[in-house]
Amino acid sequence: MLNIVLFGPPGAGKGTQSENLIKHYNLSHLSTGDIFRANIKGGTELGLLAKSYMDKGELVPDEITIKMLESEFDKIKDSKGFIFDGFPRTEAQADALDKFLESKGTSITKMLALEVDDEELMKRLLERGKSSGRSDDQNPEIIRNRINEYNSKTAPLKNYYSKQHKFTSIDGVGTIEEIFEDLKRALN
Ligand code: AMP
Repeated sequence: MLNIVLFGPPGAGKGTQSENLIKHYNLSHLSTGDIFRANIKGGTELGLLAKSYMDKGELVPDEITIKMLESEFDKIKDSKGFIFDGFPRTEAQADALDKFLESKGTSITKMLALEVDDEELMKRLLERGKSSGRSDDQNPEIIRNRINEYNSKTAPLKNYYSKQHKFTSIDGVGTIEEIFEDLKRALN
């Protein structure tokens, strides 16, 4: 199985590059942000709970996020591998993912980190907010909070995967095609 953690701050291009990688390597996509948004749209209890954190640009608590990810993983049968997009975002989530995958007889192959500086992220997210319909992309204060959450809680995971010799840094500034070439090169 090819299991990739596609990592990076909000606005780094994880969604776009996930689509490319899925098509190229025939993988299954697990995006915790997308799953939360589907739950919000569906008016579920989980959606309501997640929304209260997402609206502030804060991370949804680990216990809720981990349980949801595991249950979505179990729904997908006979996969060649997974792209974890926007998960893990904390060390507790990374630990839980390692243990969960081990229980399934597999593991993370590589963590690919898209690197984009904070100023560029702010610009991209405000631009995306004009068409994405996402309220968390429209308010500079919420965006700033999401970037801060990333820098304080999520960025340390580079070290976590580095220790496992799985971390690769990818320049997230360039054309979509250039970045995709770098991602493929890192996987070959
Ligand atoms: P994203 O679509 O990945 O930018 O996620 C949007 C929002 O969903 C984040 O700002 C968080 O509030 C929440 N979220 C998504 N994934 C996670 C996660 N792994 N852990 C905690 N919160 C998450």
